[in-house]
Amino acid sequence: MNSLLQLDVKYVKGIGPKKAELLAAELGIRSAADLLRHFPNSYIDHSKSYSVCELSGDMPYARIHGKFVALNVVGEGAKMRLTATFTDGRRGMEIIWFRRIKQIREQIRLGQEYVLFGKPTRYGPMWQMVHPEIDIPDSVGAQEGFRGVYPLTERLRNRGIVSRNFFIWAQSVLSSHTVSDPMPQSVIRNFGLMPLEQALKEIHMPSSADMLEKAKYRLKFDELYYIQLDIVKRSRERHFSTEGYRFLRIADWFNNFYNRCLPFPLTDAQKRVVKEIRADVNTGRQMNRLVQGDVGCGKTIVALMAMLMAIDNGFQACLMAPTEILATQHFESLSALTAPIGLNIELLTGSTRTARRKQIHESLRNGSLHILIGTHALIEDTVEFANLGLAVIDEQHRFGVAQRAKMWRKNNLPPHILVMTATPIPRTLAMTVYGDLDVSVIDQLPPGRKPVTTLLRYDNQRQGTYKAVYNQLRMGRQAYIVYPLIDENEKLDLRSLQEGFEIIKQTFPDYQVAMVHGRMKPDEKDHQMQLFISGEARILVATTVIEVGVNVPNASVMIIENAERFGLSQLHQLRGRVGRGAEQSYCVLMTKHQIAAETRKRLEVMTATTDGFVIAEADMKLRGPGDIEGTMQSGMPFDLHIASLASDGQILQLARMAAESVIDADPQLCSPLHRDMVFYMTRIAGRNADWSKIS
Ligand code: ADP
Ligand code: MG
Repeated sequence: MNSLLQLDVKYVKGIGPKKAELLAAELGIRSAADLLRHFPNSYIDHSKSYSVCELSGDMPYARIHGKFVALNVVGEGAKMRLTATFTDGRRGMEIIWFRRIKQIREQIRLGQEYVLFGKPTRYGPMWQMVHPEIDIPDSVGAQEGFRGVYPLTERLRNRGIVSRNFFIWAQSVLSSHTVSDPMPQSVIRNFGLMPLEQALKEIHMPSSADMLEKAKYRLKFDELYYIQLDIVKRSRERHFSTEGYRFLRIADWFNNFYNRCLPFPLTDAQKRVVKEIRADVNTGRQMNRLVQGDVGCGKTIVALMAMLMAIDNGFQACLMAPTEILATQHFESLSALTAPIGLNIELLTGSTRTARRKQIHESLRNGSLHILIGTHALIEDTVEFANLGLAVIDEQHRFGVAQRAKMWRKNNLPPHILVMTATPIPRTLAMTVYGDLDVSVIDQLPPGRKPVTTLLRYDNQRQGTYKAVYNQLRMGRQAYIVYPLIDENEKLDLRSLQEGFEIIKQTFPDYQVAMVHGRMKPDEKDHQMQLFISGEARILVATTVIEVGVNVPNASVMIIENAERFGLSQLHQLRGRVGRGAEQSYCVLMTKHQIAAETRKRLEVMTATTDGFVIAEADMKLRGPGDIEGTMQSGMPFDLHIASLASDGQILQLARMAAESVIDADPQLCSPLHRDMVFYMTRIAGRNADWSKIS
């Protein structure tokens, strides 16, 4: 395989420099190995041919043997097309081309035998085919059996490159080269994998459905294996190389908090994660741990306990949140929680006044400040700690990798890092994207929470919905009304928000209504938010700015307008704002009356479950991982050609096991037996960002 990695695709028979350039630009295909890894995404059975009489309109494709008997150019300019009459000997049909007219006209010989392949459509009494594939019987391309349909781009099609070209090129490479297999024999044996060369042949020219499945398995395994190998190797290196502070003691701060301030017993899941963190900060190596847990599972208190471990050992801690509102909330709740033990906590955000800022800087440097909470203002270079031991990053998907990396430089040794996220990332995705962070999961909600009742309602049921909201308000509760804001700059969205605001004010004249959106000045946003948090305003009309972390336990209803415009994971995040108190809470997904069956099915996932992991899995299956990751705002570090994170979780686990076993046996991967494998890995996974420095 490695020699094929080094073979420029332009040397493959039939490609040449011009097409090679096009392939590189359109599909990133540069080497023969890249070409072989451009897999078909579906297959068509070429073993059956039809006569024109047998055609029917619902056939996606049909294959017909026959001859061209006439060829005409019709129209001119942009309307010019080439039409031909093609006959199977008994009945004729019309073939039409809109592009590449000159070349096709020159290629076709009247009276010669051809095999056409395309979608038949009926036009009056006449059958037609537009831009069919054309083969000469018994030539390579005309071979019978399953044939792949390859992903193409518009530009490639316009230049006359079709699926059949890829099939022929792949066959040409595979028949003139042997493919060496960089995968260790032990892995091939232990995991029952098809040899690589055979797998490549089968994927491009399947001999049977069964063999095709085995080939796909092998190639998916490969793809995931090399990525995991890279991740596991880096992660082991980090574990061994990055020295970290030792928090050896559990002392007064921790114990006093635990015994005197803890307002509720921790859930078993919280206890387990506290123990995992405790074990990490003891080892003399830097901790890089991701705590993942559904909204409301109680991550904050776990973070606080980790910070107390740092303080007990003479270190400082900081907590970074993505928004000012969240940072303020954390500051207030942690200050209240720790009041009896007199911890010194401060808040630093973009709007902290200069004089105050100076005091904070001073107390940070002289070590009297225990915990600093804030927004990304924390990572500015002017913020110097006397002895930072732990940095907690909340809702990490809002921060870029570079921002997180800055935390590393805040002390002589890098401080321990705890990243907390409520975005339920399916395990398969977490293993890949955060493959080198240790992951803890809080998979349990505090007792006594009532699951939010979720309802799907249409526009014409609005009055009834408002009445239900009114009843909740009368019982003293609060309500959120959320509007989609796809693009913060879109004036249209803002208008619908403002209109909604007016309607809500008219509908609920007895109650004060606050409004927040992303384009507000921070001061104004905070003011409006504060009105709602204090309970003065009973209704909050908002865009998705409230998505992350806002905690108003008295809010028991949320209406989400145009719910069909949100992704499931986002709806789940939004819904997490209610159901935080002891009361039964409700979430109403509002859509227009006419929605596609598909959309309804998607929204029904929300009414059926409140389990964030189930929802994230469903979301990923429906939309593909790209979108989930879009909500995490971090680029996927590699492309997957054949494996899918949504459906190949099991293969991923096995590939990870395989990678671990190989690295256990050869931690540096320096055995000569692994030389080809390492070369291949760096070429395949080499596009990865440096994930070991993710936080
Ligand atoms: P999240 O994981 O979404 O950040 P929080 O840390 O904000 O969740 O916790 C949500 C709410 O649950 C808070 O009001 C918190 O005080 C409460 N809480 C956390 N842990 C427990 C527990 N073990 N028992 C009862 N309530 C808890
Ligand atoms: Mg939180």
